[in-house]
Order: sequence, then structure tokens, then C-alpha cells
Amino acid sequence: MTEENLIEEIKGVGTGLKIKFNRLGIYSAADLISYFPRRYEDYSHITSIADIRPGMVSIEAKIKQVSSRYARRGISVTEAVASDSSGSVRLIWFNQPYRKASIIKDADYFISGKFELSHQRLSIINPSVEMANSFPVNTARILPIYRETKGLHSLQIRKIIRELMPLIRNMPEILPLSVIKKNNLMGYHEAIEKIHFPSSASDIEKAETRLGFNEVFELMLASLLNKQENEHEKSLSIPFRQTLARNFVKNLPFKLTDSQRIVVWRIYQDLQGTQPMNRLVEGDVGSGKTVVAAMAAIMAIKQDFQVAFMAPTEILARQHADTIYRFLQPLGLNDTVGLLVGGMPTVAKTKARKAIATGKMKMIIGTQTLIQESINMDRLGLIIIDEQHRFGVEQRKALMAKAGHMPHVLSLTATPIPRSLALVVYGELDISILSQKPVGRKAVITKIFSDSGRVQAYRMLDKQIEEGNQAFIVCPLITENDFDLSQSAEKVYDRLSHHEFKHRKLGLLHGRMASAQKTKVLEDFLNRKIDILIATTVVEVGIDIPNANCILIESAERFGLAQIHQLRGRVGRAGQQAYCFLVTSDNNPPSRRLTTLETVNDGFRLAEIDLKLRGPGAVYGVAQHGQLDLRFAELSDHKLIAAASESAGEFIKSGENLLKYGVLAEHVGKLRAVTNLN
Ligand code: ADP
Ligand code: MG
Repeated sequence: MTEENLIEEIKGVGTGLKIKFNRLGIYSAADLISYFPRRYEDYSHITSIADIRPGMVSIEAKIKQVSSRYARRGISVTEAVASDSSGSVRLIWFNQPYRKASIIKDADYFISGKFELSHQRLSIINPSVEMANSFPVNTARILPIYRETKGLHSLQIRKIIRELMPLIRNMPEILPLSVIKKNNLMGYHEAIEKIHFPSSASDIEKAETRLGFNEVFELMLASLLNKQENEHEKSLSIPFRQTLARNFVKNLPFKLTDSQRIVVWRIYQDLQGTQPMNRLVEGDVGSGKTVVAAMAAIMAIKQDFQVAFMAPTEILARQHADTIYRFLQPLGLNDTVGLLVGGMPTVAKTKARKAIATGKMKMIIGTQTLIQESINMDRLGLIIIDEQHRFGVEQRKALMAKAGHMPHVLSLTATPIPRSLALVVYGELDISILSQKPVGRKAVITKIFSDSGRVQAYRMLDKQIEEGNQAFIVCPLITENDFDLSQSAEKVYDRLSHHEFKHRKLGLLHGRMASAQKTKVLEDFLNRKIDILIATTVVEVGIDIPNANCILIESAERFGLAQIHQLRGRVGRAGQQAYCFLVTSDNNPPSRRLTTLETVNDGFRLAEIDLKLRGPGAVYGVAQHGQLDLRFAELSDHKLIAAASESAGEFIKSGENLLKYGVLAEHVGKLRAVTNLN
């Protein structure tokens, strides 16, 4: 038997079981070995019958008086009596008539099951039974509970995995021994064995630590190798010119924060190098990332390099083009900036392309497709990517092939990723954090309402409209297609325009609308032709409507904290007092998680809380790419992450050939393609 064997080649798996295993995505022995339990039930403690109490029990006893009968509605009932030296207890199985024939008189058995009331009598219901002189799989131990499917229960899964034990025990170690030793880790095959058949709680803990370490170690190796590869590429050096930077800053309508200053300085140093920059600037909403990007751009533009600025949507690209244009005006560089997006008229596009080709246009702002456009690649010195994680290894390779050099890459994100997570997710990036916000920013006043409090929230929102402000209402869903009709954007729009807000001008915006239509709605909103914009989370990133000071979020409990924080970053952008109304979909008191939004206004702290409470999937941005498939590593476990990343760094430094470790190399190879998320 090898890991490649098909599931049906394992002893005990017939056609019936094969189909069921396949249904769980298990096709081979290897699949089954890595089909890990979701949780455990502890039946390890053997009680004498006289001492048993309702709940999970295990006993060691002989079984007598087995009888089977059919009760009402054709249910078969098998009853028996189990006895040890302290007393006896009734066992009952429903619909397992084969039990009668399979029990051997006077043999010793382990019996595990729930001791509970059935038909007014305390009995052990549907117990598992195994000979006491065997290696028990389903009794008298900590039992793993797997994800099951109809007709395939954990009982059977355990039995079949048990068949693979010799194979598991022969699995080679996949990490370098030095790493195992240094971190005092359980061996690989032992960890796999203990995950399926633990003898104690500490077995489970050690096995999980080992496998979690593995996951982080592999991810970090992948990132570090990507980073190393990037450092070996050539880039165009963009020299730092102090007067230019001075001039730019002098003409700004505000003073840079210290954070902005430090980050820009780092970027200028990177740009001078002949190794491509690969830097991520993380800054909470409103921390002023755009001006940082503009400052990076001027250094390139002024020295005749090209800059490509990619935004996640056309709407944002247009907005950035406006902003950057204004920033560059005082320097007389505004004519070198241009927009190139799909939704532009053909004539305008042709004109833009021409300006790019002649080198008149140096900074091109658009969406992701920009990179496929006819940019003058020879001079492409800098790529700026705002709020997207889709510029991966493949795109980088394509760029290299086209340009012959690797442009400097500056990524911007408002996704507040806690440090531990950032290390894993963005391991290959240099990270700069804009930790300060411009002074005088008012916190958004946040209030939670229950379902029946919605009326009051509407009233407060309407008061803001009355005073000349504008508002967003955000719904978790677009339309009836989704599982819940009540709070879809379309339904809410429909209801509000006929009832609660029929005296206001309403607009609807969601991701399935055509691009031109979306742009039109946003323009109308920006030009105050719309009072209240009802939208899905498409408004989440970046959108800038200075006059909006109010956001109401429906079914707020469904959102991550960091995501709500993003959403409320959409209001109060002109410095006015802003409000965020969180409406839950029931009348229960709001969770502690949600109420932290009323008091905490720091995106990083909220993300940290979310990470602890709901896991990495909840932290916005990480959920999006879904490639961070960590099953054992707790991302809030700073110690584990620090240890694994340190070891990964040492391994790289040692210069040892990864190919010596076949399985590890294979895992890392796969991860390298997906960890490049900048
Ligand atoms: P984000 O980091 O969310 O992308 P923006 O770059 O859109 O933030 O900046 C938000 C607002 O703050 C903009 O109107 C911008 O002009 C302004 N801003 C940026 N830096 C400063 C600063 N140092 N002082 C005052 N206002 C600033
Ligand atoms: Mg921004």
C-alpha cells in the first residue's frame, strides 16, 4: 500500500464506501491520511458501571442477553445487558440488527457511547463496541470526529484510516532535522498518527503544533524564495531629487504627517536601487496613502520614467486621476497624467494611447488591464497598485518578459492586517505602515440598532439629509438570488423609495450593474443628485464622496469588524462629523464583537480582534483570495509564527538545496504561485 493507492484499494472499502469517500473528496490513500478530524470526543476514561453518569461513557464489560425486535414504524431495536464486577447497564442500538449476531458471549469488550434516557430508562445508546484485547479504534479512547456524509460515519472513517497505519508509520520526515530539533517538534509521521489516534490531549496539542509549524514554515519559505528571486531581477534606478520633493511638499494644501514623511523617504531610497522595490504601504482609511503614491510618482515622471497606477475599479481609477492631477498641477506636471479605462469613448482611448506612445503621457491611471495596454515598456519604472491583491507571480513574469526589467512596485492597502498575519500573507514584501492619521480627523460616531430600532436609525439618517448631507445604506446582498431576501440592496431600494424615504432621491449601486451605469450613479451621487445611495459592499474601498457623512449598515452582524471599519471610512471625508449606524437583523442584544466598533476606531486593533474571534477568514482581504489554507496554524499564535518564520529564514540563509527535501519542495513550489499577493 502506498499513498497513491486508490481509496477502493484499501481493505474494507467496497464500491458503496468508495462512492461515499469520493463524495467527501477522498480518492486516494493520501487524501484519507490528510482528511483531518474536525474535533474530538473524549471516551478515554474507563468507568466502572456502578459509577457511570449521564453523558459520554466508556466501560469494559461482558455482553449478555442480546435480543432484537422490530418496534413501531419498522425500526429495529437491539437490546443487551453489559456487566462488569460492579454492576450492569442496558445497551440499546437502533436499526443495527446485525449487532445481535456479532457479539461473542463471555468476551471482554470496550463499550463507548452516550449514557442517556431513552423511553424513560437510562441506557447507553448506539454504543461502539470493540474487543478489549485489540487496538481500539472506536472505543475507550479520544475519538476523532470527521466531517461525515450520509452512510459514512466517523466510525467507519476511523476503521479505514486504521488500515493505513503501517503506511502512516513509514512516512518520511519532510522537514530538515535541524528544524525539528531546534523547535522541539514532534516527528511528521507521529504527528499524523496522533492527529487521527491521539492517546491524550497533549498528543493532540503537540501534533497540531507540529502541523501548524509546517504550514507556516512552508508559506514563509515560499515567500522568501519569491523575495529572493525579485531581488535578483534588475530594475531601473530612479535617482532621488531633493528639490523636486521639496517643491511638491511646499505646494500641498496640508502638512505631511511624520508617518507619511518616513514612508516616502523609504520609497525614495528603494527607487534609487537597481533591485526592484516590492513595498506595501499599509494605512488605515484616511491615513493619506494617495499623496504618498503621488510623491513616488513625481520622482519617476520628472526623470522621464513611466508610471502605471492601477486601481481595483474604473470608478476609483477616475477618482485617482482627478486627485493626482490636482497634486501635480503646481509642479506643471499635470499634463503628463492620463486616464485609460475600458469605459472611455474610443476616441479618448486612442488619444491616450498615442500620448503614451509618444512619451507625452508618463503616468497612466487605470485598472488592472492597464498592464496589458500598449505602455512604453522600456521606460516603465514604477507600478503603483491600489487596494488589490491580484498582481501575482504570473503577471510579474509577463512584465519581465515584456519590459526586460522589473519595474519597482508600490502596493497600497487599507486592509489592516495584524502583524502576525502580515508576516505570513505578505512575507515577501517590505512593509511600511502609515500609523498616524492627519491631525484633526474626527472619529465616526458609531451606534448599534436592533431590527426594531431601524426606524430610529432611519430618523437619525433623515435628519442628516435634511441638513444637506448625503448617506450610504449598505446591504449584505444584491438580490433575491442569494439565500436571504430581506436585506438585499434591490429589495431595500424598492421598499425605501416607496415608503420610508419616498421624499428623498435614492440611488442603487451594486457589482452586477454595467460599468457605465455604475459610473453614472456615482457621478450623480457626487453631484448631489442622489441623497441616499443604497449599495452593496462595492462601495467598500476607496470611494470618495466628500459630502457624505452618514452610513447605515444592514445586517451588520454578518460583516467583519475590519470590513465595517472600511465602510465607515467612506463618510466624513471632508473633515465633518460623520455617523455610522449598524443595524442588526434581529432583536437580540448586539454581540461584544460588534459593540467594540462603538469605542475602537483603530483599524489595526479591530483586525486583531477579528482575527482572534473569527479567524483569518474574517479579516478582510485575506478572505478574498482564500488561498491561505491553514488548518492547524493559529494566526493569532505569535510565538508559532515567529518560530516558523525564523527557521525558514535560517534555512534560506544556510544555502541548503530545497530539492533535497522532495515533499517540502513540492509544497513550497505550489505555494510560491499563490503567496505573491501584492
Ligand atoms: P487613504 O489612505 O484612505 O487612501 P487618502 O489618500 O484618500 O486616504 O486621503 C484622505 C484625505 O486626507 C484626502 O482628502 C487627502 O488629501 C487628505 N490628506 C492626506 N494627507 C494629509 C495630511 N498630512 N494632512 C491633512 N490631510 C491629508
Ligand atoms: Mg485610498
